[in-house]
Amino acid sequence: MKLKKIRCRKKVREPRFCFKTLSEVDVLDDGYKWRKYGQKVVKNTLHPRSYYRCTKDSCRVKKRVERLSEDPRMVITTYEGRHAHSPSHDQDEDGHSPSHLSNFFF
Ligand SMILES: [Zn+2]
Repeated sequence: MKLKKIRCRKKVREPRFCFKTLSEVDVLDDGYKWRKYGQKVVKNTLHPRSYYRCTKDSCRVKKRVERLSEDPRMVITTYEGRHAHSPSHDQDEDGHSPSHLSNFFF
């Protein structure tokens, strides 16, 4: 009787989070800043898949953006990892109030 060794399951340390959105823009504004670091052509689609990473130095969250081949109106966003910080806003408001939304309307 052999005992099977449990191999390290592929590195699945990072939690993944994926959702579909009906959107014209590829990159949804999620409050975080992203830097594009790659792009890959997906077969059978006109739409490339884009790779982004969080611009925070200490943060290793990645995001993948692609369009659904069956329905290009849908954007699939996949996050990998979790932000260890709060979203960065252009205006530095100290903290927690969501009041920046009202600035859009003067
Ligand atoms: Zn981050």
